[in-house]
Amino acid sequence: MRKHRSLAAYSWQAVVALVVLTSLLILGCGLINSSTPTQPPPPQDGTLTVLFLDIGQGDSILILSPGGYTMLIDGGNSSRDANEVIIPALHAYGYDELDFLVATHPDQDHIGGLVTVLQKVPVRYAVLTGQEHTTQTYEAFLKEISRLKSAGQLTPIKARRGTPLDFDPALKVEVLAPGDDVVETNDTNNASIVIRLTYGAVSFLFTGDAENEEEAWILDQGGDVQAQILKVSHHGGKTGTSEAWLNAVSPEVAVISVGADNHYGHPSSQVIERLARRKVKIYRTDQQGTITITTDGSGYQVSTEK
Ligand SMILES: [Zn+2]
Repeated sequence: MRKHRSLAAYSWQAVVALVVLTSLLILGCGLINSSTPTQPPPPQDGTLTVLFLDIGQGDSILILSPGGYTMLIDGGNSSRDANEVIIPALHAYGYDELDFLVATHPDQDHIGGLVTVLQKVPVRYAVLTGQEHTTQTYEAFLKEISRLKSAGQLTPIKARRGTPLDFDPALKVEVLAPGDDVVETNDTNNASIVIRLTYGAVSFLFTGDAENEEEAWILDQGGDVQAQILKVSHHGGKTGTSEAWLNAVSPEVAVISVGADNHYGHPSSQVIERLARRKVKIYRTDQQGTITITTDGSGYQVSTEK
């Protein structure tokens, strides 16, 4: 009898609990649905997040703007980089599309994963130099852009110094290079798209594989290139990151996107010494994995995967 009563009491409580739980679930789903806009994705609450993704030897930088817009600068070496690192990073932050995709230059270690990105992630604008380059990967990349353009799904933008990129009103985006002339040559590194991104008092400089010639060209044009955070060009190769460039940029943090035991000897000891002499804090993707920098426009924080 006692047992029977206790079971009845239990059942009554279970029904109440079930009703409460169901109501909470319905309410919860409603809240989730109503707070998840489709366009654009959730704002970053005034935070700019820049991820220097660890894709081995190459570059891939994912930028999540304070207003919830996304930009990918370069796409690693291969579709594996896209599938295993780039797209999962985008999804991990709750995004499923890219507003801007920038291919700094046509080399494999910068565009190798971009065809897969274009096939799997909707992209609004593809920013590229249009330099002629006849590798299979680059041709596949151009073909995919042209297919998406024809389908009305993407707009290509030819980037030159001064080309405006309407990314997020909270940010200043300056395309510092390339100029017209170098794009006509077959020097891909020195025709890299170089972008200075500023949020409040904090600037980033994204340099692709620019070498001394392109750095000198940018300095010749005049204007401010100062940046607290410098993406060291060309994986720390010795033909870039000159003294004159470092004098002008005056970085506090240097990020080197480089693969462990690469065949190129990147980064060079000269570049590391040059940065160390200036007490620039060096971060390397081969040693620390993906490097994430967040800023509210006044200060910034650096965190590393390893
Ligand atoms: Zn490279």
